[in-house]
Amino acid sequence: DTPLLESDFYRFQEGLTPRERESLGQLRAYLEAEVRPIADQYWARAEFPTQTIAPLAELGMYGPSIPLVRHFENSAVFRGWAALELGRIDAGVSTFIGVQSGLAMNSIAVGGSDEQQQEWLPRMARGEVVGAFGLTEPLSGSDSARGLRTTARREGETWVLDGEKRWIGNATFADVVVIWAKDVADEQVKGFLVTTDTPGFTATKIEDKIALRTVQNADIVLDGVRVPESRRLQRADSFRTTAAVLRLTRTEVAWQAIGIAIGAYEAALDYARERIQFGKPIAAHQMVQDLLVRSLMNITASIALCTQASAMQDQGIGGDEHSAMAKAFATAKMRETVGWCREVQGGNGIVLDKGVARFFSDAEAIYSYEGTREVNTLIVGRAITGQAAFV
Ligand code: FAD
Repeated sequence: DTPLLESDFYRFQEGLTPRERESLGQLRAYLEAEVRPIADQYWARAEFPTQTIAPLAELGMYGPSIPLVRHFENSAVFRGWAALELGRIDAGVSTFIGVQSGLAMNSIAVGGSDEQQQEWLPRMARGEVVGAFGLTEPLSGSDSARGLRTTARREGETWVLDGEKRWIGNATFADVVVIWAKDVADEQVKGFLVTTDTPGFTATKIEDKIALRTVQNADIVLDGVRVPESRRLQRADSFRTTAAVLRLTRTEVAWQAIGIAIGAYEAALDYARERIQFGKPIAAHQMVQDLLVRSLMNITASIALCTQASAMQDQGIGGDEHSAMAKAFATAKMRETVGWCREVQGGNGIVLDKGVARFFSDAEAIYSYEGTREVNTLIVGRAITGQAAFV
């Protein structure tokens, strides 16, 4: 039987099915044995550990929500816990999966025809094909719904794509990138499966990041890239499809943020038990206990919120505002928590091998991607007031 995470203070994981808990146990064992020991090194070198791609496929991490490829029937709450377990060990590997499975595969599952799903999803689920998701541009981040400048022009059975993308995760080594572009004819956003060997496509790694260093983010240039109509996502006719994909992934990013907070909290707790100051472990000082308990409170409140957000997704009643609040809340609480955990470690909190520093840094990227706190707040604000305040 898979033990509960100690940091799951209110035993939420008990609500999962035995099969789900078994799967999480296998994931945790793999991450502890193979990923935890190398995570800091790869982070420092800003490289992605590609050796994890195949084992994570065997663990069923690519497309667990997609009936065509999933290993077993499972709940959104289970998938949230998987994102948490991944984030708890390595936010880089967890983000790789968020892009491959959450963004790229879900785009095909939601927007692709049956043939397109058959063509791409099984190979992606096996990790043979790596995907990326190209929405953000140099001049359009939070306002991607209206501000996309990348264009798609139809010439018979071929589309010609021109424009630039920024921040595209996995794109330096991906096989296929879902490119979102505006059709010049009807001004609607459409999705295209662009293989990275297509002439006119270039991806250049963004260097010198201080967060999520293992994730290979790229600037992409599309210069007259020609894509056949058969590679246009057949059921993606407007930004509504893009938004539907983001609604699915946002809640998982919230869960991932809790994992990051837990990773930092566990390292801080271990440290506090061992570090002696003023003749006793710092864990015995009241103000240090306060930081640790407040961290656990943030984690626990976030788990409670995300459990319900995912359960509502399972019931088909989760709206944009529910995933937006989960993401905004959990990432804000994560950011506060990793700061407190770094504080518990004093000066050592800024050194990688003490176990908090990587989570502390990575938290900054998770805080801003998949909708910043402000944008997710405005999505909730629109829902409760009926007033859209984005513009
Ligand atoms: P901006 O939109 O320029 O925002 C800057 C600031 O202004 C933010 O604080 C924002 O909240 C605030 N702001 C903007 N508009 C408003 C408003 N109306 N009201 C109040 N405040 C506002 N994108 C992809 O397409 N694919 C990927 O794989 C991908 N991976 C990423 C990985 C990393 C590590 C990072 C950092 C980003 C990634 N992104 C990716 C892009 C990410 O989604 C964007 O960074 C994010 O949407 C924010 O856009 P921006 O960075 O352009 O910031």
